[in-house]
Amino acid sequence: MITQKLDAINDYANAVNVASEILKSGGIVAVPTETVYGLAASAYSDDAIKSVFTAKGRPQDNPLIVHIASIDMLDNIACDIPDMAYECAKAFWPGPFTMVLPKGDKIADSVSAGLDTVAVRFPSDKTICDIILKSGLPLAAPSANTSGRPSPTTASHVIEDLDGKIDAVVCGNDSSVGVESTVVSLVGEKPRLLRPGAVTPEQLRKILPDLIIDDAVLKQLKEGEKVASPGMKYKHYAPKTNAILVEGCSNSFVRYVNQKTDCAAICFEEEYYSISVKKISYGSKRNESTLAKNVFAVLRDIDTLGVKEVYIHAPSKDGVGLAVYNRLIRACGFNVVTL
Ligand code: AMP
Ligand code: MG
Repeated sequence: MITQKLDAINDYANAVNVASEILKSGGIVAVPTETVYGLAASAYSDDAIKSVFTAKGRPQDNPLIVHIASIDMLDNIACDIPDMAYECAKAFWPGPFTMVLPKGDKIADSVSAGLDTVAVRFPSDKTICDIILKSGLPLAAPSANTSGRPSPTTASHVIEDLDGKIDAVVCGNDSSVGVESTVVSLVGEKPRLLRPGAVTPEQLRKILPDLIIDDAVLKQLKEGEKVASPGMKYKHYAPKTNAILVEGCSNSFVRYVNQKTDCAAICFEEEYYSISVKKISYGSKRNESTLAKNVFAVLRDIDTLGVKEVYIHAPSKDGVGLAVYNRLIRACGFNVVTL
Protein backbone atom coordinates (compact mmCIF):
# COMPACT_ATOMS: atom_id res chain seq x y z
CA MET A 1 0.00 0.00 0.00
CA ILE A 2 1.24 3.53 -0.77
CA THR A 3 0.61 5.92 2.14
CA GLN A 4 -0.50 9.38 0.95
CA LYS A 5 1.19 12.27 2.77
CA LEU A 6 -1.37 15.07 3.06
CA ASP A 7 0.16 18.48 3.78
CA ALA A 8 -2.07 20.14 6.35
CA ILE A 9 0.28 23.08 6.86
CA ASN A 10 0.39 24.43 3.27
CA ASP A 11 -2.80 22.87 1.83
CA TYR A 12 -5.13 22.48 4.82
CA ALA A 13 -8.50 22.31 3.02
CA ASN A 14 -7.28 19.61 0.64
CA ALA A 15 -5.79 17.54 3.50
CA VAL A 16 -9.08 17.69 5.44
CA ASN A 17 -11.17 16.85 2.34
CA VAL A 18 -9.05 13.91 1.17
CA ALA A 19 -8.75 12.47 4.70
CA SER A 20 -12.55 12.68 5.16
CA GLU A 21 -13.20 10.92 1.84
CA ILE A 22 -10.77 8.10 2.68
CA LEU A 23 -12.40 7.64 6.11
CA LYS A 24 -15.91 7.62 4.60
CA SER A 25 -14.86 4.86 2.22
CA GLY A 26 -13.56 2.69 5.09
CA GLY A 27 -9.87 3.64 4.98
CA ILE A 28 -7.50 4.44 7.86
CA VAL A 29 -5.71 7.80 8.24
CA ALA A 30 -3.23 9.12 10.80
CA VAL A 31 -4.23 12.57 12.05
CA PRO A 32 -2.67 15.10 14.40
CA THR A 33 -4.29 15.71 17.78
CA GLU A 34 -3.10 17.85 20.70
CA THR A 35 -2.10 14.73 22.69
CA VAL A 36 -0.31 12.48 20.14
CA TYR A 37 -1.00 11.58 16.48
CA GLY A 38 -3.93 9.14 16.21
CA LEU A 39 -4.68 6.42 13.64
CA ALA A 40 -8.31 7.14 12.75
CA ALA A 41 -11.08 4.95 11.33
CA SER A 42 -14.88 5.22 11.27
CA ALA A 43 -16.18 4.09 14.67
CA TYR A 44 -19.20 2.63 12.80
CA SER A 45 -17.15 0.28 10.59
CA ASP A 46 -15.98 -3.04 12.01
CA ASP A 47 -13.77 -3.65 8.94
CA ALA A 48 -12.03 -0.27 9.18
CA ILE A 49 -11.38 -0.81 12.90
CA LYS A 50 -9.91 -4.24 12.19
CA SER A 51 -7.47 -2.59 9.71
CA VAL A 52 -6.33 -0.27 12.51
CA PHE A 53 -5.55 -3.22 14.80
CA THR A 54 -3.64 -4.94 11.96
CA ALA A 55 -1.60 -1.87 10.92
CA LYS A 56 -0.50 -1.23 14.53
CA GLY A 57 -0.07 -4.89 15.50
CA ARG A 58 -2.33 -4.02 18.45
CA PRO A 59 -3.55 -6.83 20.73
CA GLN A 60 -7.21 -7.56 19.91
CA ASP A 61 -8.39 -7.04 23.49
CA ASN A 62 -7.13 -3.44 23.80
CA PRO A 63 -10.07 -1.09 23.04
CA LEU A 64 -9.89 2.22 21.16
CA ILE A 65 -10.99 5.76 22.06
CA VAL A 66 -13.78 7.30 19.95
CA HIS A 67 -13.24 10.97 19.03
CA ILE A 68 -16.13 13.41 18.59
CA ALA A 69 -16.27 17.09 17.63
CA SER A 70 -19.30 18.28 19.61
CA ILE A 71 -20.99 17.25 22.86
CA ASP A 72 -24.15 16.49 20.84
CA MET A 73 -22.34 13.57 19.18
CA LEU A 74 -22.04 11.85 22.57
CA ASP A 75 -25.59 10.41 22.28
CA ASN A 76 -24.47 8.37 19.25
CA ILE A 77 -21.57 6.85 21.14
CA ALA A 78 -22.70 6.10 24.69
CA CYS A 79 -25.96 5.36 26.53
CA ASP A 80 -27.20 5.83 30.13
CA ILE A 81 -24.90 8.83 30.40
CA PRO A 82 -24.64 10.02 34.05
CA ASP A 83 -24.90 13.75 34.93
CA MET A 84 -21.33 13.64 36.14
CA ALA A 85 -20.23 12.93 32.53
CA TYR A 86 -21.80 16.19 31.37
CA GLU A 87 -20.11 18.04 34.23
CA CYS A 88 -16.75 16.59 33.16
CA ALA A 89 -17.48 17.46 29.52
CA LYS A 90 -18.20 21.06 30.51
CA ALA A 91 -14.97 21.28 32.52
CA PHE A 92 -12.50 19.40 30.30
CA TRP A 93 -13.80 19.32 26.71
CA PRO A 94 -12.57 20.02 24.18
CA GLY A 95 -9.24 18.75 25.49
CA PRO A 96 -6.99 15.87 26.51
CA PHE A 97 -9.65 14.06 28.56
CA THR A 98 -11.38 10.71 27.85
CA MET A 99 -14.40 9.21 29.65
CA VAL A 100 -15.37 5.53 29.75
CA LEU A 101 -19.18 5.18 29.57
CA PRO A 102 -21.75 2.47 28.77
CA LYS A 103 -21.48 1.73 25.04
CA GLY A 104 -24.19 2.72 22.55
CA ASP A 105 -25.43 0.27 19.87
CA LYS A 106 -24.18 2.18 16.83
CA ILE A 107 -20.50 1.79 17.68
CA ALA A 108 -18.75 -1.21 16.12
CA ASP A 109 -18.07 -3.95 18.68
CA SER A 110 -14.39 -4.15 17.71
CA VAL A 111 -13.90 -0.52 18.93
CA SER A 112 -14.50 -1.69 22.49
CA ALA A 113 -12.77 -5.03 22.01
CA GLY A 114 -15.93 -6.80 23.18
CA LEU A 115 -16.46 -4.71 26.37
CA ASP A 116 -19.89 -3.19 27.06
CA THR A 117 -18.26 0.21 27.65
CA VAL A 118 -16.76 2.79 25.29
CA ALA A 119 -14.07 5.44 25.74
CA VAL A 120 -14.88 8.86 24.24
CA ARG A 121 -12.99 12.15 23.81
CA PHE A 122 -13.67 15.56 22.26
CA PRO A 123 -10.18 16.79 21.29
CA SER A 124 -9.27 20.48 21.03
CA ASP A 125 -7.05 20.09 17.94
CA LYS A 126 -8.70 21.84 14.98
CA THR A 127 -7.53 19.38 12.31
CA ILE A 128 -9.07 16.21 13.77
CA CYS A 129 -12.26 18.13 14.65
CA ASP A 130 -12.58 19.46 11.08
CA ILE A 131 -12.10 15.91 9.71
CA ILE A 132 -14.78 14.56 12.08
CA LEU A 133 -17.20 17.34 11.06
CA LYS A 134 -16.44 17.03 7.33
CA SER A 135 -16.80 13.23 7.28
CA GLY A 136 -19.75 13.24 9.70
CA LEU A 137 -18.15 10.27 11.47
CA PRO A 138 -17.05 9.66 15.04
CA LEU A 139 -13.45 8.47 14.68
CA ALA A 140 -11.96 5.63 16.69
CA ALA A 141 -8.28 6.45 16.98
CA PRO A 142 -5.52 4.83 19.02
CA SER A 143 -2.04 6.34 18.94
CA ALA A 144 -0.57 6.10 15.41
CA ASN A 145 2.50 4.04 16.32
CA THR A 146 3.43 0.38 16.06
CA SER A 147 2.13 -1.24 19.26
CA GLY A 148 4.75 -1.18 22.00
CA ARG A 149 6.75 1.72 20.45
CA PRO A 150 6.74 5.26 21.88
CA SER A 151 3.61 7.19 20.83
CA PRO A 152 4.08 9.57 17.84
CA THR A 153 4.11 13.32 18.45
CA THR A 154 5.14 14.30 14.88
CA ALA A 155 4.07 13.22 11.39
CA SER A 156 7.57 11.83 10.83
CA HIS A 157 7.21 9.51 13.86
CA VAL A 158 4.04 8.13 12.23
CA ILE A 159 5.81 7.63 8.90
CA GLU A 160 8.73 5.90 10.68
CA ASP A 161 6.32 3.27 12.07
CA LEU A 162 3.41 2.96 9.64
CA ASP A 163 4.50 4.00 6.12
CA GLY A 164 3.04 1.50 3.64
CA LYS A 165 0.58 0.12 6.22
CA ILE A 166 -2.07 2.88 6.27
CA ASP A 167 -3.93 4.87 3.59
CA ALA A 168 -2.73 8.37 4.51
CA VAL A 169 -1.05 10.64 7.06
CA VAL A 170 -2.30 14.17 7.63
CA CYS A 171 1.01 15.97 8.20
CA GLY A 172 0.23 18.85 10.57
CA ASN A 173 1.84 20.47 13.58
CA ASP A 174 3.68 18.56 16.30
CA SER A 175 1.42 17.54 19.19
CA SER A 176 1.36 20.30 21.79
CA VAL A 177 0.63 18.15 24.87
CA GLY A 178 2.81 15.18 23.95
CA VAL A 179 1.28 12.42 26.12
CA GLU A 180 -2.02 10.61 25.54
CA SER A 181 -5.25 11.77 27.14
CA THR A 182 -6.28 11.36 30.77
CA VAL A 183 -8.70 8.38 30.90
CA VAL A 184 -11.39 8.26 33.61
CA SER A 185 -13.95 5.48 33.93
CA LEU A 186 -17.43 6.62 34.99
CA VAL A 187 -19.04 3.17 34.91
CA GLY A 188 -18.01 1.78 38.31
CA GLU A 189 -19.22 2.68 41.79
CA LYS A 190 -16.69 5.53 41.96
CA PRO A 191 -14.95 7.44 39.17
CA ARG A 192 -11.57 5.86 38.50
CA LEU A 193 -8.45 7.32 36.89
CA LEU A 194 -7.23 4.65 34.46
CA ARG A 195 -4.49 6.63 32.72
CA PRO A 196 -2.97 9.97 33.82
CA GLY A 197 -2.59 12.75 31.21
CA ALA A 198 -2.52 16.51 30.94
CA VAL A 199 -5.79 16.84 32.91
CA THR A 200 -4.37 16.19 36.37
CA PRO A 201 -5.86 14.40 39.41
CA GLU A 202 -5.98 17.79 41.17
CA GLN A 203 -8.16 19.22 38.35
CA LEU A 204 -10.32 16.08 38.17
CA ARG A 205 -11.05 16.10 41.91
CA LYS A 206 -12.70 19.53 41.61
CA ILE A 207 -15.46 17.83 39.56
CA LEU A 208 -15.03 14.24 40.82
CA PRO A 209 -14.18 14.48 44.55
CA ASP A 210 -14.50 10.66 44.94
CA LEU A 211 -11.93 9.91 42.23
CA ILE A 212 -9.88 6.74 42.79
CA ILE A 213 -6.49 6.33 41.17
CA ASP A 214 -6.29 2.83 39.71
CA ASP A 215 -3.38 0.73 41.04
CA ALA A 216 -2.11 0.10 37.52
CA VAL A 217 -1.22 3.81 37.08
CA LEU A 218 2.04 3.36 38.98
CA LYS A 219 2.33 -0.35 39.78
CA GLN A 220 3.12 -3.36 37.67
CA LEU A 221 0.18 -5.72 37.38
CA LYS A 222 0.68 -9.29 38.48
CA GLU A 223 0.25 -12.12 35.99
CA GLY A 224 -3.48 -12.71 35.39
CA GLU A 225 -4.58 -9.74 37.57
CA LYS A 226 -7.93 -8.18 36.57
CA VAL A 227 -7.52 -4.84 34.79
CA ALA A 228 -9.94 -1.93 34.44
CA SER A 229 -8.16 -0.74 31.29
CA PRO A 230 -6.78 -3.51 29.07
CA GLY A 231 -4.09 -1.17 27.63
CA MET A 232 -2.37 -1.04 31.00
CA LYS A 233 -1.24 -4.65 30.94
CA TYR A 234 0.86 -4.38 27.78
CA LYS A 235 4.51 -3.50 27.37
CA HIS A 236 4.64 0.10 26.22
CA TYR A 237 6.86 2.80 24.84
CA ALA A 238 10.01 0.73 25.25
CA PRO A 239 13.27 1.60 23.49
CA LYS A 240 15.39 -1.41 22.42
CA THR A 241 18.17 -0.18 24.72
CA ASN A 242 17.86 -1.36 28.33
CA ALA A 243 16.28 1.60 30.17
CA ILE A 244 16.31 2.24 33.93
CA LEU A 245 14.27 4.90 35.72
CA VAL A 246 16.29 6.68 38.44
CA GLU A 247 14.69 8.49 41.37
CA GLY A 248 16.70 10.97 43.41
CA CYS A 249 17.93 14.55 43.54
CA SER A 250 20.02 16.14 40.77
CA ASN A 251 23.34 15.81 42.62
CA SER A 252 22.81 12.09 43.26
CA PHE A 253 21.71 11.46 39.66
CA VAL A 254 24.75 13.24 38.20
CA ARG A 255 27.14 11.35 40.52
CA TYR A 256 25.40 8.03 39.74
CA VAL A 257 25.56 8.27 35.94
CA ASN A 258 29.06 9.77 35.81
CA GLN A 259 30.55 6.62 37.38
CA LYS A 260 28.87 4.33 34.82
CA THR A 261 30.31 3.16 31.49
CA ASP A 262 28.68 2.30 28.12
CA CYS A 263 25.58 4.21 29.10
CA ALA A 264 23.67 7.41 28.43
CA ALA A 265 21.57 9.70 30.62
CA ILE A 266 18.17 11.19 29.92
CA CYS A 267 18.32 14.18 32.22
CA PHE A 268 16.84 17.56 33.06
CA GLU A 269 18.33 20.65 31.42
CA GLU A 270 19.58 21.86 34.84
CA GLU A 271 21.90 18.78 35.01
CA TYR A 272 23.02 18.67 31.38
CA TYR A 273 26.46 20.29 31.67
CA SER A 274 27.43 18.32 34.79
CA ILE A 275 26.98 14.94 33.09
CA SER A 276 30.04 13.38 31.47
CA VAL A 277 28.42 10.42 29.64
CA LYS A 278 26.24 10.71 26.48
CA LYS A 279 23.09 12.62 27.38
CA ILE A 280 19.79 14.05 26.17
CA SER A 281 17.79 16.62 28.13
CA TYR A 282 14.02 16.32 28.09
CA GLY A 283 13.36 19.73 29.62
CA SER A 284 13.41 21.58 32.90
CA LYS A 285 12.61 19.62 36.06
CA ARG A 286 10.40 22.57 37.05
CA ASN A 287 8.24 22.37 33.94
CA GLU A 288 6.31 19.09 33.75
CA SER A 289 4.41 20.21 30.62
CA THR A 290 7.66 20.52 28.66
CA LEU A 291 8.77 17.09 29.90
CA ALA A 292 5.43 15.69 28.62
CA LYS A 293 5.86 17.36 25.23
CA ASN A 294 9.36 15.91 24.77
CA VAL A 295 9.20 12.50 26.45
CA PHE A 296 8.16 10.34 23.49
CA ALA A 297 10.56 11.96 21.00
CA VAL A 298 13.39 11.37 23.49
CA LEU A 299 12.36 7.72 23.97
CA ARG A 300 12.60 7.30 20.17
CA ASP A 301 16.08 8.91 20.14
CA ILE A 302 17.52 6.60 22.79
CA ASP A 303 18.25 3.80 20.33
CA THR A 304 20.37 6.12 18.17
CA LEU A 305 22.85 6.67 21.02
CA GLY A 306 24.59 3.31 20.59
CA VAL A 307 24.91 2.50 24.30
CA LYS A 308 24.07 -0.60 26.33
CA GLU A 309 22.05 1.12 29.03
CA VAL A 310 20.20 4.35 29.50
CA TYR A 311 19.41 5.96 32.86
CA ILE A 312 16.35 8.21 32.85
CA HIS A 313 15.94 10.77 35.63
CA ALA A 314 12.38 10.41 36.95
CA PRO A 315 10.19 13.54 37.06
CA SER A 316 8.11 14.52 40.08
CA LYS A 317 4.68 12.88 40.21
CA ASP A 318 2.94 16.25 40.67
CA GLY A 319 0.49 17.61 38.11
CA VAL A 320 1.30 16.46 34.57
CA GLY A 321 4.46 14.87 36.03
CA LEU A 322 2.31 11.85 37.01
CA ALA A 323 1.55 11.20 33.31
CA VAL A 324 5.22 11.48 32.35
CA TYR A 325 6.24 9.18 35.22
CA ASN A 326 3.53 6.66 34.18
CA ARG A 327 4.89 6.50 30.59
CA LEU A 328 8.54 6.31 31.70
CA ILE A 329 8.03 3.52 34.24
CA ARG A 330 6.45 1.45 31.44
CA ALA A 331 9.23 2.35 28.99
CA CYS A 332 11.65 1.04 31.64
CA GLY A 333 9.64 -2.17 32.22
CA PHE A 334 9.15 -1.07 35.88
CA ASN A 335 12.92 -1.19 36.39
CA VAL A 336 13.47 1.58 38.99
CA VAL A 337 16.57 2.57 41.00
CA THR A 338 16.07 4.84 44.01
CA LEU A 339 19.20 6.77 45.04
P1 AMP B 1 -4.54 4.53 22.94
O1 AMP B 1 -5.66 4.38 21.98
O2 AMP B 1 -3.28 3.91 22.45
O3 AMP B 1 -4.41 5.93 23.44
O4 AMP B 1 -5.03 3.68 24.18
C1 AMP B 1 -6.34 3.83 24.65
C2 AMP B 1 -6.39 3.52 26.12
O5 AMP B 1 -7.74 3.66 26.57
C3 AMP B 1 -5.94 2.10 26.41
O6 AMP B 1 -5.18 2.10 27.60
C4 AMP B 1 -7.26 1.37 26.59
O7 AMP B 1 -7.14 0.24 27.39
C5 AMP B 1 -8.16 2.46 27.21
N1 AMP B 1 -9.56 2.21 26.91
C6 AMP B 1 -10.21 2.36 25.72
N2 AMP B 1 -11.49 1.95 25.81
C7 AMP B 1 -11.69 1.53 27.08
C8 AMP B 1 -12.79 0.97 27.79
N3 AMP B 1 -13.95 0.78 27.19
N4 AMP B 1 -12.60 0.64 29.08
C9 AMP B 1 -11.42 0.85 29.68
N5 AMP B 1 -10.32 1.35 29.07
C10 AMP B 1 -10.45 1.69 27.78
MG1 MG C 1 -1.24 3.87 22.34
